[in-house]
Amino acid sequence: MPLRTADEYRAGLVDGRTLFYRGQAVPDLNAVPELRVAVDHAAHDFDLVADPAFRELAVTTDPDTGAEFSTYYKVPRDAEDLLERMRLIDASTAEGGTVVTLIKEIGTDATFALLRKLAGESCEKALAFHEHCRDNDLAVAVAQTDVKGDRSVGPSKQSDPDLYVHVVDQSADGIVVRGAKCHTTSSANADELVVLPTRAMGPADEDYAVAFAVPVNTPGLELYVSSYSGREHNDFEFPLSSGHKLLESLTVFNDVFVPWDRVFLCREPELAGSVALTFVEYHRFTAGCRTKPPLLDALVGGSALMAIEMNGVAKAGRIRDKLTHLISYSGDGARPSSRRWLLGCGRRWRRHRLPGPDDHQHGQVHVRQRVPPGPRVGAGLRRRAARHGPRRRRLGQRRRAPGAWREAPFRAASAHRPRTGCA
Ligand SMILES: Cc1cc2nc3c(=O)[nH]c(=O)nc-3n(C[C@H](O)[C@H](O)[C@H](O)COP(=O)(O)OP(=O)(O)OC[C@H]3O[C@@H](n4cnc5c(N)ncnc54)[C@H](O)[C@@H]3O)c2cc1C
Repeated sequence: MPLRTADEYRAGLVDGRTLFYRGQAVPDLNAVPELRVAVDHAAHDFDLVADPAFRELAVTTDPDTGAEFSTYYKVPRDAEDLLERMRLIDASTAEGGTVVTLIKEIGTDATFALLRKLAGESCEKALAFHEHCRDNDLAVAVAQTDVKGDRSVGPSKQSDPDLYVHVVDQSADGIVVRGAKCHTTSSANADELVVLPTRAMGPADEDYAVAFAVPVNTPGLELYVSSYSGREHNDFEFPLSSGHKLLESLTVFNDVFVPWDRVFLCREPELAGSVALTFVEYHRFTAGCRTKPPLLDALVGGSALMAIEMNGVAKAGRIRDKLTHLISYSGDGARPSSRRWLLGCGRRWRRHRLPGPDDHQHGQVHVRQRVPPGPRVGAGLRRRAARHGPRRRRLGQRRRAPGAWREAPFRAASAHRPRTGCA
């Protein structure tokens, strides 16, 4: 099957799935304006393949068959593949108004994890599922987070056994699962749902160590779409969320039958933790590293423009501090060497660059720092200044010519660099 168009994706969502929104059953997601925003947002990932500007990045050709498929489905084998995936997620997020689409990204994070962790027949089933989604150009969500209940005890010790999804029956054809997952992003507007364990488990939790995939319209699967940020947003007061948003749901498995060819893990508690964490590893790459820079670009760019052009407070130290913090956060984890990136910032500061239109593209918005000029000071004075804060002009010191510029200390950026990685 060729790559789908955005309209084909939208039409595929009307398939008899069981959705509820604000207490009402929703037969067609596209017909509810508040929900349609999320469908349209996700649809732009399908538009990318038709856009000549992104086609090379968004479409991959199978070297054996010559078939084209979405680059999201390309299993990363080396650093170049990861960089390519990074560029695609980056471009898609920027095109989506800084809101990640999470319609093929998260699903492939899960299939990559299954392919890496499973062996033998289970791995073959995971590969068949991955190829099914790739060849039919499907949108895939991931239900990992269980409702959980009392966090101090594991799944089998909960007072209600259905707080984690678990196997309640097994036959020659497949398994029956019951329970609930929560915060399932894009579930309502996906075609398939991958279900993964949420934590490490012991022998007592055997029934809960289960991973599988089902189409979203599977009987017994019920999605209660969150009403978070749910009212209609006008584009003046809500310039971003009026056009871009994600849906998430409470995802209930009401005795759902799953055929064996869709069951990747069943009653294998020793694998639950590593499958859960491997998905998280891939998903940190998607959500943590590459969706952050476009968002921070907008924050930094927007804040800088607001501060400089509108309010006339560009000189305020606390505002410069905050922008510096965001710039350094944006650099951290977003690039192989954030320190090298920050050094680049320092060099640009020295050239007194103002933010330009291109800077917003790549997390490289730079703020001109205008530091009050002072006399040349010796090492002693510098040490004192470091101990006692900003240096003030003292009696008898020469006043510099008004408007003279001095380079901003690079130290300011490195001092604010947060220790966190790309979490
Ligand atoms: C924007 C967004 C999108 C998401 N999308 C998805 C998705 O698509 N699919 C999906 O499956 N999930 C999704 N999630 C859910 C997310 O993965 C979970 O919220 C996250 O794993 C935390 O789980 P929790 O909400 O149950 O919090 P908890 O596990 O209850 O954690 C809350 C706090 O309690 C602490 N805590 C928990 N247990 C213990 C303990 N035993 N001892 C001490 N401290 C403890 C934690 O460290 C944390 O500080 C999403 C969440 C967000 C915010």
